[in-house]
Amino acid sequence: MTDVHCHVPRPGKARQFVIGEDFIGIHPWETLRTGSVPDKTGSVPNDELLKMAGLLSADKKLGVGEIGLDRLKNRDISSVMRETFLAQLELAARFRRPVVLHGAKCWGQVTAQCKRFAGRIPAFLFHGFSRSDGLLPDIENLNGFVSVGPAVLNDHAVNYRKLVVKIPAGRLLVETDRTEENEAQCPAIEDVARKLAELRGMTFEELEALTDTNAGRFRGEC
Ligand SMILES: [Zn+2]
Repeated sequence: MTDVHCHVPRPGKARQFVIGEDFIGIHPWETLRTGSVPDKTGSVPNDELLKMAGLLSADKKLGVGEIGLDRLKNRDISSVMRETFLAQLELAARFRRPVVLHGAKCWGQVTAQCKRFAGRIPAFLFHGFSRSDGLLPDIENLNGFVSVGPAVLNDHAVNYRKLVVKIPAGRLLVETDRTEENEAQCPAIEDVARKLAELRGMTFEELEALTDTNAGRFRGEC
């Protein structure tokens, strides 16, 4: 079993891709804070980007993320958020690393930016993706993967359950997005996988094998 997106690992047998360990990046929310990243002048955090470049060149297994755009906390996307995202896509292209994307309420814009790097960035993870299926062909063309999260366990998430059965099998992954804040309520990755398998008419073992293989493809291991 592979949990392809968490911030806090959970003890157990599952393989986990941890933000801050396996992937590094400046989250779009960080660009909303003043006095930290970016600095008080509201400019792109160049020091942070330089540090990232150093870490990426020192460790070939390190990916980039989670990065992107966000309209959940603020309706308007600032130029700093946009430029910080672009600068990190440039880094991923330069070092040829997979990217974990955040695109709450603006997946169309995030996908459009990624298209500019098609073929130069090896793979993308559309994490927390809950938009309608219209973007799935673009995601496939980008060598993108879509990770299904705990929302699938919610019986009221009718549209989300409609989406997750439409994700092409070769693009399917699972995640918990486990954080320090949600740790107590966060379901196990196996629970997410079991529900997804049921919705897609597969056995748990089939889904586990499929998503393990896809996770390796996303990381460029096979
Ligand atoms: Zn996350």
